Amino acid sequence: MVDAYIGLGSNLDDPQAHIIRALEELKQLPGSCLVGRSSLYVTSPVGPQSQPDYINAACRLGTELGAHDLLEQLQAIEHCHGRLREGEQWGPRTLDLDLLLYGSEIIDMPDLKVPHSELHRRCFVLQPLHEIAGDVVVPGHGSVSDLLAAADCNGVRKLDHD
Ligand code: AMP
Repeated sequence: MVDAYIGLGSNLDDPQAHIIRALEELKQLPGSCLVGRSSLYVTSPVGPQSQPDYINAACRLGTELGAHDLLEQLQAIEHCHGRLREGEQWGPRTLDLDLLLYGSEIIDMPDLKVPHSELHRRCFVLQPLHEIAGDVVVPGHGSVSDLLAAADCNGVRKLDHD
C-alpha cells in the first residue's frame, strides 16, 4: 500500500456536490481505501478572474494502484463529471483531480509529475492538505507545514459545514 494524496477542485454546476461525489467515487477505486479527507475550502480562482470561486479539498488514499493507473482512474472520474479537456488553462472546470503525492516518490514523466508541479506554492492545495498531512514532506520542497507558512493564503476560506 502506498499513501497517495489527491487534490480536488471544482467551480461549475454545484461545485460542492461535485467534490462530495468525487470523494465517494475515490472510496470505490480498486485496491484503494480513503484514509482521510480535509474540510472543503472556498478559494479565489488562480489565472482568469472572470470565473466563479472554487471549492477545494484534499484526501489521502491508501492504494495498491501504480501511479499511472491511479492517474488514469482520476481522469476517468473527471470524465464522468463532464470535465472537458479543451478548455483554457486554469479555466473553469466541473472537477479537477490532481495526484499531489505518491508516497515519497518523485515521478517526472511527460504525462505525470509527482509531486504535482504547483503543489508547493498553491495555498488552495496546501491549506486542505495541511489538515490531513501537516508533517508530510513534499520531496524536494520540505514539509507541508513549512510550505503553508510561506504561502499567501488570502482568498482561501474553510467552509464551516459540508
Ligand atoms: P489539469 O488541467 O490540471 O487537469 O492537467 C491535466 C494534465 O496534467 C493531464 O494531461 C495529466 O497527464 C497532467 N499531469 C501531470 N502531472 C499530473 C499530476 N500529478 N496529477 C494530475 N495530472 C497531471
